Amino acid sequence: MNPFRDNTQADSPAAGTVLQNSHPVSVASLAPSFPLAFDAPADQILEDLKKAGFSAVEETSSVLRQNWNLRMKELETNPFLIGSSCPKVADLVHHNFIPLTDFLSRLPSPMEQHGRSLRRRYPRARLFFFSPCEAKVEENWRSGVFDQVFEFSVLAGMITAPRRESPALRREVHTLEEPPVEARLAVLNSPVSGENECRWFLQEALSPEFRILNPGYHDLALCRGGCAGRTAEQFPSRDPAEVKLLRAWDIDT
Ligand code: SF4
Repeated sequence: MNPFRDNTQADSPAAGTVLQNSHPVSVASLAPSFPLAFDAPADQILEDLKKAGFSAVEETSSVLRQNWNLRMKELETNPFLIGSSCPKVADLVHHNFIPLTDFLSRLPSPMEQHGRSLRRRYPRARLFFFSPCEAKVEENWRSGVFDQVFEFSVLAGMITAPRRESPALRREVHTLEEPPVEARLAVLNSPVSGENECRWFLQEALSPEFRILNPGYHDLALCRGGCAGRTAEQFPSRDPAEVKLLRAWDIDT
């Protein structure tokens, strides 16, 4: 029996029924690329999710500023680090670049960090994370922070599903600090992305000289274009991802 079954998508695949048998207080964290899965302003999507039955909906990027500060602190003791956001990159290092495991960041990913923050503030709620990929489902098997993790396709279905009232909490979109623009747009910035580029970078990083010449926190992404690239590929649009994201957040292009 899979002890993590409750964390998989397999037991609740139907978008419209995700919340129906759920805990009365349900709280959602949305990964930063979520606006790329919709053709609507991001604020409207957040509002629609509250109407779908969530007691609170927050952006995962609300913890990014704090995460960046922690990264700077971690760099003080190890000036070359491979980031913690993409679990597939950590898997690649663990399986194919074992000498680099010492250079993997020890920080929780933004997803895990946000989940811990939500758990502190909503100790009895059922916590949901909406993700651009199934790798986050697997990451949650390890951390166990969220009760359920779903990909954006489920999220899209929930917005059009029948409404369900959730009386247990006053509904709010942002109960944590609203993310700054740079955090919301950081998902567009993936300097090393795509499996070939990641493998090339990690191969180079085996050399001490490369690590000395390239200090910093390197947040590699296994998908080309990072999580934004993956979401844009799954939800094609006539606009490039950058334009679509800026428009979703009502930022002048
Ligand atoms: S880069 Fe791809 S595999 Fe990695 S977290 Fe983002 S969507 Fe998932």
